[in-house]
Amino acid sequence: MKIGCPKEIKAQEYRVGLTPANATEAILRGHSVLVETGAGEGSGFTDEDYRAIGAEIAPDAGTVFSKSELIIKVKEPQAAERRMLREGQILFTYLHLAPDAEQTRDLLESGVTSIAYETVTDMRGGLPLLAPMSEVAGRLAPQVGSWALQKANGGRGVLLGGVPGVRPANVVVIGGGVVGTAAARVAVGMGANVTVMDRSVPRLSYLDDVFMGKLTTQYASAAATAELITTADMVIGAVLIPGAAAPKLVTREQLSIMPQGSVLVDVAIDQGGCFETSRVTTHQDPIYEVDGVVHYCVANMPGAVARTSTQALGNVTLPFLLSLADKGWRQAITDDPHLRAGLSTHQGKLTSPPVGVAQGIEA
Ligand code: NAD
Repeated sequence: MKIGCPKEIKAQEYRVGLTPANATEAILRGHSVLVETGAGEGSGFTDEDYRAIGAEIAPDAGTVFSKSELIIKVKEPQAAERRMLREGQILFTYLHLAPDAEQTRDLLESGVTSIAYETVTDMRGGLPLLAPMSEVAGRLAPQVGSWALQKANGGRGVLLGGVPGVRPANVVVIGGGVVGTAAARVAVGMGANVTVMDRSVPRLSYLDDVFMGKLTTQYASAAATAELITTADMVIGAVLIPGAAAPKLVTREQLSIMPQGSVLVDVAIDQGGCFETSRVTTHQDPIYEVDGVVHYCVANMPGAVARTSTQALGNVTLPFLLSLADKGWRQAITDDPHLRAGLSTHQGKLTSPPVGVAQGIEA
């Protein structure tokens, strides 16, 4: 099959849909790979890296879209890209269609067979193509939070791990799922005094088991949150209620009971944020202060470490990519109900019931 990978054009997106390593795997199985010039640059892969493994470099996106049977990307296609999609072509990427009526309409009009990363499932009911990005954002959270804690950035000038004779920072992680667990792991590794809060007792039991006393678990009642934030140097918001906006777990009034210069890292900002005073920020201007508390609310945290994120995403998309290329989309989804869960549009029909419900379209 002819596999095409255009350069991402969404603002501040530095990841690429196909790494040279994954392109190699596809080429070894007899597929051809066409990559837009510069597509890998943001993730540190040059055109030469792709040429060296036998991929062809295209001068522009138009060439990639017109010559490829399967398009692999990272972000949802932007308006200019959607105009280049066509019936008979497979699009494999993040789509996030439910809140995006305009994109849904364009994909339906194009007739393309689109498969959304974020709705592909696994045997345990998880979302395997979303999890690595949560893992990245979670591991990054204490790192950016500790930067924000530095005096010059408005923080209270506390070192996460302390030093001998000086206590470490108190880090509270609210939500102990994929993001929260990854954040706790790094915060513990940096030597902080870590408490993880969740509303799921089985999840707290799991964390208690795997961390073997290296952190404290706490049921996430409003009262416990109010108590813990009074001594927290850093609070990491990592909650998710599937299909709903994030609940507001720290109110504006409560900022006054937090230490001056403490830091809120709201990873759940892409779902509206779990602190009342959160608003979306960018990698260029990631922090702001409200009532003496520093907020970090970047909605696309994995973009900060594009190379790691690209490689992590590539690891999980590869088996699905190879299956689609080897068998064609119809056989691939027939053989794999988890990939079938990603099918979103085909020949002008919506094939994702949740998107149909969100937009009032039959699916
Ligand atoms: P997850 O489903 O693995 O974990 C969420 C956890 O939150 C669960 O354990 C759940 O029990 C817990 N929870 C729900 N309501 C709670 C409450 N009121 N109090 C305490 N805990 C509560 O989800 P995840 O993959 O860890 O994602 C967490 C959030 O991070 C999501 O909003 C996701 O969209 C976001 N995210 C953001 C970025 C970014 O770049 N900003 C990147 C990846 C993920």
